[in-house]
Amino acid sequence: MINNCINKLQNIFFQPTCLICRSPGQGNLSICSQCISQLKSNRHCCSRCSLPLETDSQVLCPQCQSQPPQFHQSFIPFQYRGEIVNLIRNFKFSGNLTSGRVVAELFCRQLDASDIAFPDVLVPVPLHPSRTRERGFNQALWLADKISNYSGIPVNHKLVSRTSKSRAQHQLNKSARLRNLENAFKVESSPNNDQNFPAHIAIVDDVVTTGATANTIANTITSLFNHKSDIRIQLWAIARTPLE
Ligand SMILES: [Zn+2]
Ligand SMILES: [Zn+2]
Repeated sequence: MINNCINKLQNIFFQPTCLICRSPGQGNLSICSQCISQLKSNRHCCSRCSLPLETDSQVLCPQCQSQPPQFHQSFIPFQYRGEIVNLIRNFKFSGNLTSGRVVAELFCRQLDASDIAFPDVLVPVPLHPSRTRERGFNQALWLADKISNYSGIPVNHKLVSRTSKSRAQHQLNKSARLRNLENAFKVESSPNNDQNFPAHIAIVDDVVTTGATANTIANTITSLFNHKSDIRIQLWAIARTPLE
């Protein structure tokens, strides 16, 4: 009885409001059902890189047909357009963790509804330490921790690290992005101790634009372990930028 009263009072005083429209949030989430339903789903997408596609009939996008990436599969449930852009930008660049919790929870709900095979380990895209200091946190690691709490899949943030201070990818065009990433990552393992290297990895990021970052990390891993035929790499992210 007393607990019920406390719960009701908590609901009245602490019910979150929607970050987008200020209506009451859905359950304990800071987004309402109406705004969730208006987010752009990435249901029709390339089965390999999750590039949004016009129709469901194409299984692979033209790029993956001609030159597939080094990762084998991806899970990116939203398109990077509409209100999710503001939620992710507020989280990533302004450190708004309420926005972060919303996008992490929405991702986990979609993960729950999907039939994607779970990896052995989540590997967040590393930030250069100086950029982590500037921003205060690595948003990919923060998201990977939230997904780990939900799914039970462990996070390894030391497996892949940055080797050099590359420029922020979003400031560059496609060819500059590729040059910027050459030798940007290193894998904390060697073929001599690869017995313990996880066979199935999901690289975790917030937004995927061209997929070049994940492709470079996957390439770094597979080139070290190309003698291991069971290495399988996925890319998990919240949102994928459509082609312009
Ligand atoms: Zn709303
Ligand atoms: Zn593709």
